[in-house]
Amino acid sequence: MSYAYQQQLDEFMAKIIAKNPGETEFHQAVLEVAESLIPFIEENPQYKANKILERIAEPERVIMFRVPWLDDKGDVQINRGFRIEMNSAIGPYKGGLRFHPTVNLGILKFLAFEQVLKNSLTTLPMGGGKGGSDFDPKGKSDNEVMKFTQSFMSELFRHIGPNTDVPAGDIGVGGREIGFMFGQYKRLKNEFTGVLTGKGIDWGGSLIRPEATGYGQVYFAEEMLKTRGLDFKGKICTVSGSGNVAQYATQKATELGGKVVTLSDSEGYIHDPKGIDAEKLAYVMNLKNVKRGRISEYCDKYPEAQFFSGKRPWEVKCDIALPSATQNEINGEDAKMLVSNGCFCVSEGANMPSTPEAIEVYLEKKILYGPGKAANAGGVATSGLEMTQNSMRLNWSREEVDAKLHGIMIAIHKNCVKYGTESDGFINYVKGANIGGFVKVADAMLAQGLV
Ligand code: NDP
Repeated sequence: MSYAYQQQLDEFMAKIIAKNPGETEFHQAVLEVAESLIPFIEENPQYKANKILERIAEPERVIMFRVPWLDDKGDVQINRGFRIEMNSAIGPYKGGLRFHPTVNLGILKFLAFEQVLKNSLTTLPMGGGKGGSDFDPKGKSDNEVMKFTQSFMSELFRHIGPNTDVPAGDIGVGGREIGFMFGQYKRLKNEFTGVLTGKGIDWGGSLIRPEATGYGQVYFAEEMLKTRGLDFKGKICTVSGSGNVAQYATQKATELGGKVVTLSDSEGYIHDPKGIDAEKLAYVMNLKNVKRGRISEYCDKYPEAQFFSGKRPWEVKCDIALPSATQNEINGEDAKMLVSNGCFCVSEGANMPSTPEAIEVYLEKKILYGPGKAANAGGVATSGLEMTQNSMRLNWSREEVDAKLHGIMIAIHKNCVKYGTESDGFINYVKGANIGGFVKVADAMLAQGLV
């Protein structure tokens, strides 16, 4: 980056930091995007004159509210609820809800900001939003989860709607939580509409939505591999997390001939050198989704595997890394370790799992690196397909949805190649995703005037 661009970037970031104090993840997400966009905006002065970058970094609306509920002991509990309505230039706000004790305004603003560009990349008409609560579903009974989600929706319902803002799941929000929230919304509004996605298949959900983020992440990796004449066959893959995204990334990578050797949760990772095949994955799905147990229990069932407490899977030698747990789970040292062990492809299922230092390592070593906003866009894309099916009041088959998802991931990859190919032929997917996502939103904002 030239001196003049660096100066502009520094000035821009100084204002963002002053205006949004303490929101470190939000600063990190904006910086990564601004680094790609400032030189591009310089070449396209209509965006500069209309301060599009400054405007997309400012949420259209932020909603924060109290969520009181009674636990099973009859004690009063208070959580905080949020919805960030970031940008509606190309469609209704769309993005998940996260229930995790670490949730705060800065984390949700980073996620909402990323979501705007990601949703634009999907080719579907969706604006960007994100929300959630510092509620921790871990260790709570089904009854407590229901009480909390009903209280949460009792405030959120007045801000959302099928043509206004359509939330979905994220960390800590799966089928159970979406069900309770949908029920409460329907009761309060007396309306059966597609106001949430990730619904059950019998009440407005889409086939392939549970699989979509993990499948899409692997489809995106497959496209990146093709640019170098490679594929998944025989490749060792490390996956982090063991939730929704990790499970289906493991399934698709295995189907394509890869060997997934790790999974993790916040307590550590398991390494199974023989690979997590379909039968073992079925065990994991039951363990995590039904029994709500810990990943370490895998080793009781499969003694060939080992549990590494308090560690992350990036120390295991692999060809392809599929981070699928949470933000900043790969730091600069982890990235160096991955690359020096021979990893040549990182496709992100999680949002912003790599720190800026890690991204620097990938780009310097010119490995295939698919950032989350491109590689994990299959989840929200299939949510968009769920919205379409709800509007049409019909259901597409599994094959139809999967084919559409696959087509969208190929289109996102193509868009990244268009905007990210550098003079030596290297595809900088960070640049490609940031610019590719930005253009459509920016042009819509220009067309709609100063709103
Ligand atoms: P789940 O709640 O189903 O699973 C999350 C997994 O990540 C769990 O294994 C969890 O372990 C682990 N994890 C969560 N927080 C931490 C942490 N602070 N440190 C270490 N491990 C952690 O969530 P999803 O699979 O839905 O989401 C995973 C990632 O994918 C997130 O970054 C999310 O934003 C992103 N994503 C999800 C989409 C979706 O469709 N669901 C769409 C696009 C992106 P533990 O049980 O111990 O907490």
